[in-house]
This record gives sequence, structure tokens and C-alpha cells, in this order.
Amino acid sequence: MHCRRTAVRAKSYLVYIRTHESGSFVRSSSIAFRCVAGKQKRLIRLGNRLTIYHYPVWDRHLGGTKTVAKQTQLIAFLAKMVKRNLFLMSSSAVHGFGYLEHAQTDLTSFFESNSVQKVLFIPYALTDYDAYTEKVGSVLKRWGFSCKGIHTYPDPCAAVQQAEAIYIGGGNTFLLLRTLYEKQLIDPIRDRVLNHGVPYVGSSAGTNVATRSIHTTNDMPIVYPPSFEALGLVPFNINPHYIDPDVNGTHKGETRPERISQFHELNDAPVLGLREGSTLFVGGESATLIGPPTELPGVSYGARLFRKNQEPVEFEPLSSLSFLMKEDA
Ligand code: ASP
Repeated sequence: MHCRRTAVRAKSYLVYIRTHESGSFVRSSSIAFRCVAGKQKRLIRLGNRLTIYHYPVWDRHLGGTKTVAKQTQLIAFLAKMVKRNLFLMSSSAVHGFGYLEHAQTDLTSFFESNSVQKVLFIPYALTDYDAYTEKVGSVLKRWGFSCKGIHTYPDPCAAVQQAEAIYIGGGNTFLLLRTLYEKQLIDPIRDRVLNHGVPYVGSSAGTNVATRSIHTTNDMPIVYPPSFEALGLVPFNINPHYIDPDVNGTHKGETRPERISQFHELNDAPVLGLREGSTLFVGGESATLIGPPTELPGVSYGARLFRKNQEPVEFEPLSSLSFLMKEDA
């Protein structure tokens, strides 16, 4: 990719890129900008899908036009502007795909666009840290990234401080959160992600702990965390592995929407029911739902948003959920 000169401008919540080369994509790997000579396009591309992301935070920081000479400078510049980079997967295992495979394109792009080569993996949701890190690490290695388990560092807090990216895997959410509290990692992770733009990847339990609280996990409380309050990287709750009620089923236990409505009898926070295969991508103040690269017939993807005393609302992959980032409930 040749890009002799690129102007980046943030205006009205959109980022405009101009290049002298016509019709080219200025790729910062995942986030690629459609460029047409002399024209400004509003297309921003993530992986193999097109979508438009709104970055109000850039407006504040940028205050006008910034010109950078090289693509590497552009990437570094953009990474600095977006202080919150989250990739929150419903699950790592998805029907029809190998382990993590459904997220390969987007997760690779996510890391590349943030210049991440080495991932700090937090395996605390399961008990065999070595095996778990090996499982995730071998996939990431195939994609070109190295991965090290936090448990191999003498000081986990220092590991977080130095991490290029943090990835918290799934398992038991109670065990995970208790361990994060025990190791005094809640504040350091929050600080690195929210104030220093360190990319955060969560899958399942790792997505639960990224939200306000773990009240909407599907897990059994096998241990006591000191609190259900979690990292609070987003101002709402998520229910991962969200599954729609089986209308023809004979099972009489509560459906997932019923369990979420029990949460809403006592709490106000919106709950995003994230179906398997779906990911919430957060960049700065914007949030976008991403689906798997190929959709299997008869399988529902996307997410269902539950709010207290309101009818749930359905969102398809590529929907913008940026309005949720402003929730104060
Ligand atoms: N046990 C799940 C996981 O991490 C989390 C959940 O379902 O809430 O895979």
C-alpha cells in the first residue's frame, strides 16, 4: 500500500481521509479508509465488512485538521485518539466455526490496527492456566501474534501495566472476578484500558467482567467475589451466549428473557443479550455490533437489548449501538 500523503480530519463525529491516490484503501489493517483523490469519503472498513464508525472523542482531541506523512504515523495517531478499544465477544466457541475462528478477521484487524504483536492473556476464569493459555495462544500464534499468560509473570499488576493488549478468556465468571479482585487487578486494568487506550478483548466471562457488573452472567456462583461490580469499561450489562426461548420446547425453567427481567425488577442498567457469534466492538464512544463472517441458515446472530419496563429491541450485525455508551442507568 502506497500512501504518500494523507490528511485525517475529524468533523461532525466522522473521520475523513484524503489521499492523493485514487480509489485506494489506506489500511491501518482492520480499520481501512476508503480514499478517492480529491474527495472525502465517509467509509471506514473493519475487516471484510463496511461500516461507519463515529468517533466523537476525536473531535475533542483533534480540533481541526491534522496532516501526517506516513501510514505508520497515521496508525499511531488514530490509536492515540481512540482511548477505549474493546472487542467483546459473546463466546469463543461458535457453532460452525473452529475455536475463535468466527472472530479471526476482525480480531486480527483489531490487533493490527492497534499495532499489537504480543497479547497478555488472563486465564483466571478456569483453573488450568497453562492449558488455557496454550489453547488460546496457539490460535493467536497461527494468526501471527504472541501470547503470554499473566500467571507466568512474577507481578501480575506490572504485567498489566506493560501489556500491549489484554485478553480475558471465558469460563466461570465468579471465579474470574474473584481472582481479579484478589490480585488487585481491577483498577490497573481499568486504567490501562480507559486512560491509555490499551486494547481489551473479552470472550464470554471476559466480556461479562468488562461491563458494569456480573449480575447478568449465566454462570453458577461457585465462589464469592467481594463484589459483583466489574471493570465498568462500558456503562451497561451484557448477557453472553444469549439464546432465544424455544417456542416449541418442553423445558419449564426460566427463559433467558425471564432471567433478565428478574434482573430488571431490582436494577436499571440495560442488558445486551449477545448471541453466540456476535461481538460488540467499541472504539472511543462508538459501539458497533459485529457478526460472524458467514451466517449459517436458521441460526440467529446479532443481539437483543433489554431495558427495564420496555419491550426488548432486536439489533442485527453491523448495527450501531453507540447510544448505549451514553447510558447512565
Ligand atoms: N460461562 C460463560 C463463559 O465464559 C459465561 C456466561 O455464560 O455468563 O463461557
